[in-house]
Amino acid sequence: MAHEIPYKIYLTEQEMPKTWYNVKAHMKTQHPPFLNPATGKPCTKADLQPVFCDECIDQELNETDEYIEIPEGIRDFYRMFRPSPLVRAYYLERLLDTPAEIYYKFEGNNTSGSHKLNSAAAQAYYAKKQGLKSITTETGAGQWGTALAMASAFYGLNLDVYMVKVSAEQKPYRREVIRTYGANVIPSPSDTTEAGRKILKEFPGTGGSLGCAISEAVEKAVSTPSCRYVLGSVLDHVLLHQSVIGLECKTAFEKYGIQPDTVIGCVGGGSNFGGLIAPFMGDKLDGKNDIDFIGVEPASCPSLTRGKFAYDFCDSAKITPLAKMYTLGCGFMPSPNHAGGLRYHGMSPVVSQLYHDGYLRAVSVEQSKVFEAAVMFAKCEGILPAPESSHAIRVAIDEALRCKAEGKKKTILFGLTGTGYFDLAAYKQYNDGTMTDYVPTEEDLAKGFASIPKL
Ligand SMILES: *Cc1c(COP(=O)(O)O)cnc(C)c1O
Repeated sequence: MAHEIPYKIYLTEQEMPKTWYNVKAHMKTQHPPFLNPATGKPCTKADLQPVFCDECIDQELNETDEYIEIPEGIRDFYRMFRPSPLVRAYYLERLLDTPAEIYYKFEGNNTSGSHKLNSAAAQAYYAKKQGLKSITTETGAGQWGTALAMASAFYGLNLDVYMVKVSAEQKPYRREVIRTYGANVIPSPSDTTEAGRKILKEFPGTGGSLGCAISEAVEKAVSTPSCRYVLGSVLDHVLLHQSVIGLECKTAFEKYGIQPDTVIGCVGGGSNFGGLIAPFMGDKLDGKNDIDFIGVEPASCPSLTRGKFAYDFCDSAKITPLAKMYTLGCGFMPSPNHAGGLRYHGMSPVVSQLYHDGYLRAVSVEQSKVFEAAVMFAKCEGILPAPESSHAIRVAIDEALRCKAEGKKKTILFGLTGTGYFDLAAYKQYNDGTMTDYVPTEEDLAKGFASIPKL
């Protein structure tokens, strides 16, 4: 097939971004500051320093610099897996018989299997630069733990990964990848921290939770000399690091004179979507485009479409600062039949503010529809997508079909955040026909809302 626009649009090493893009520099309304739960006052740099690396805190609080340099030491690492391919989904367009032009940016071409490596690299680099010896984090399914283990190996840092115990047991191979990169995997709850010992005593035999793993990782970081804690989504500096995704798309589009009309991404904590849309959103905030930005979430964990815009804890153990965000309540747990990822109760404060101010919209989709789209995509474009990413595929397909019905031509870009190799249990459910949809009732949501702190 001869096409003017190639199937894969690659950038050269020289064309790769040398700066990240700070969308906050363009926002007229900044999100309200994080609050220290002990004092109720805005978090200062000093409040955050025992927990996070200095450079990440500076980036977190930076509302003025549009561009922030990507240090050469981070670009050295990015070179191994970036630029990521931007693909014109010719086969999907053909299958749908749509006048829409569809593009996707594939972030799954690295061993960790997702976009998370973009921020893992940056955060490990800054920890090393600060002279720290070790970092800690938590991981549920394991994507983030793997990404951080890869980055820690590259920069020479010790890493403790508190892995939710059931995941560590159910995903022994994921655990082995993390260990192969030299990180220490500790099934959580563990007896290595006060928080872990307390939970073990109260609930012997518990399979653990992300909230508990966060508590353990933070406690370990603040009680160990030369150690900090690292988070894989939600926070502004993580969105900043993920802007490399959107910047590469923008450069590639500009090479071919392409203007997207619609940009779609899945939203868990919001970092991949925030990074994908960042430079396009900056232009929209300046009145230079009118792109339709769509964040896609599971109907079973609908923080944007059904959540409250309120100050809430970022974790279920209620130890983190309070963030003003769309939230289902830090005590919200998606139904156990939910297999598609994106189970976080809250949402990035930047994405939340942009949504609140009407610059983007959100759509929720049920998981059987998500997996139907995933299988359709895998068969025609070849890549087995992560269930998370497949939320974006679902809505991209729906938008393309709408173009067909209305006889309109549109250019659609979506973020394909990762591969599905680590989620075969979810695919098994779908293939076996045992996957069900569950949409929380108002009563279910009310229980979660009751866990939002009253200020
Ligand atoms: C973690 C993850 C997500 C969710 O990303 P956020 O940036 O937190 O919204 C999406 N897709 C994949 C493949 C992931 O691993």
